[in-house]
Amino acid sequence: MKEITTQVVVIGSGSSGISAAMQLVENNVSFVLLEKGDKLGGAGKFGAHGVYGIDSADQKKHGVDYHFPAALQEMTQQSHYLVNGPLMSRVLKKSAATIDWMAKFGLATSLTPNAQPAHLYDQPIYHEFNSFDERFTAWDHMAQIIKDSGNQILTETAGVALDYGADGLKAVIAEQADSKLRIHCQSVVIGDGGYPGNPAMMQKAFADAGELMNLGERKATGDGIAMVAAIGGDVQHNPVIFAHGCAPSFQVNPMKRDNKVEALTNLPLLWVNKIGERFTNEEVVYDFAQWGNVAHAEGGYYYMLFDQATLDHFQTQQVNWEDAFSRQFTEPEHEPVLTAGPYATLQQDVAAVIAAGDGAKADTISELAAQLDVPTEQLATTLATYNAAIDQQADPQFAKQAKFLKFKVSAGPFYAVKERCAILGTLNGVNVNANLEALRPNRTPIKGVYVVGNNANGLYSDAYSNFEGIANGFAWISGRIAADETTKYLATLKQTERV
Ligand SMILES: Cc1cc2nc3c(=O)[nH]c(=O)nc-3n(C[C@H](O)[C@H](O)[C@H](O)COP(=O)(O)OP(=O)(O)OC[C@H]3O[C@@H](n4cnc5c(N)ncnc54)[C@H](O)[C@@H]3O)c2cc1C
Repeated sequence: MKEITTQVVVIGSGSSGISAAMQLVENNVSFVLLEKGDKLGGAGKFGAHGVYGIDSADQKKHGVDYHFPAALQEMTQQSHYLVNGPLMSRVLKKSAATIDWMAKFGLATSLTPNAQPAHLYDQPIYHEFNSFDERFTAWDHMAQIIKDSGNQILTETAGVALDYGADGLKAVIAEQADSKLRIHCQSVVIGDGGYPGNPAMMQKAFADAGELMNLGERKATGDGIAMVAAIGGDVQHNPVIFAHGCAPSFQVNPMKRDNKVEALTNLPLLWVNKIGERFTNEEVVYDFAQWGNVAHAEGGYYYMLFDQATLDHFQTQQVNWEDAFSRQFTEPEHEPVLTAGPYATLQQDVAAVIAAGDGAKADTISELAAQLDVPTEQLATTLATYNAAIDQQADPQFAKQAKFLKFKVSAGPFYAVKERCAILGTLNGVNVNANLEALRPNRTPIKGVYVVGNNANGLYSDAYSNFEGIANGFAWISGRIAADETTKYLATLKQTERV
């Protein structure tokens, strides 16, 4: 086995790992950065649009009157106090400084109103990257800084095990295509991004895993969580799904925004569950986490229903409804389009989704029910009730606003599209303390082992929260904190050696 020696090994080069690495460069601590893929960067590079922050320079400039006490309380309450209070407190306090710090590497942000229509008037906490494309060059720039500082980056190299003895960490074992590597070190920062890429872990945690539109980092296969569990780390926690909206078909990439069924998905049309019942006020479409959660609660998917008249209407007319994702996917310098349609390719896009097995078309309600395998009587009752709500401009069951009681589902052909809960990853893993040190079940820290980003428990009870940018913000902040704590830990080891 090949052997190398360093002070710290950083596992993963997404938001949390690269953040730890950049902080270690500043702290003048030597390290080796491991990345499983052939390029640096995980979901933080290809996916995230910004970071959460309070008391940032931009917030001060705009006179935002929302500060640490309110933020801490709101975030704690949203997860019913089932959180790691000291960690949450520390993370919130470091958010503003981290926003400034990230700008040095080409990841400058601007305070933007919350992109989710349901949260437009929430306190502004979302700092959006000034350019989505600059994320890619920022990672190249950071890689150069790491190399220039004399530290090593090993791509196509996966951390697989920790050699931990009575005196602490001895080595990280890593795998390359055809060889193993033993990296002697005193400390490790584990930022490999949770387990969205591990079907067995996903299935164990979430019964509906097979139905989910999984947009998470597929190289994140729970390696870090397994490594820490193997040395006695505490990995007991509620599974935390990172649900974020819904999407129509495995064949349609919702991130590309080039399919008009996807556009229809983002509107509050009629939705029914797998037994043909309406189950929510569809206006939840304007709140991404809750929208995903409501589909997750229904077993991972629901059906969006419409008829030919509605399809024709959206194909040819502009509708005064906002596409839920319109603001999110508009570059900061452009104005979002806040109407829907006309969608010239809608009929053919619907046909393609049906051909892919993710939808149905039928001339009658009973045929549609048969194709969806839902009880005909229930589906007929649901449609009759919904159509009556439109006639009366009142929705006694779910109180949908009259503005959205517009499109009856009353005359064939009828259409159904299977809408899957979309997830951006997983948010539970290892229990840690406020230093991001992994804990044993008795809450003593495993010295020298730090767990960051999507791998660390602490901010959520069982689902993602409504604070835009908090997942990515946490990843960046936790990486920095772990690097600083590792630096202090290494100093204590040096002192012990001297004694
Ligand atoms: C499409 C999408 C959009 C998103 N948008 C937002 C947003 O707008 N706001 C927000 O707050 N969050 C967003 N997120 C979530 C955010 O990107 C993550 O929370 C954040 O990136 C987590 O950072 P991380 O370092 O834990 O994981 P990642 O950034 O995913 O990095 C993990 C890295 O570890 C590597 N790796 C895996 N296993 C190993 C191993 N054994 N050895 C070495 N390397 C390994 C992976 O290849 C990857 O590079 C989004 C996620 C996605 C997928």
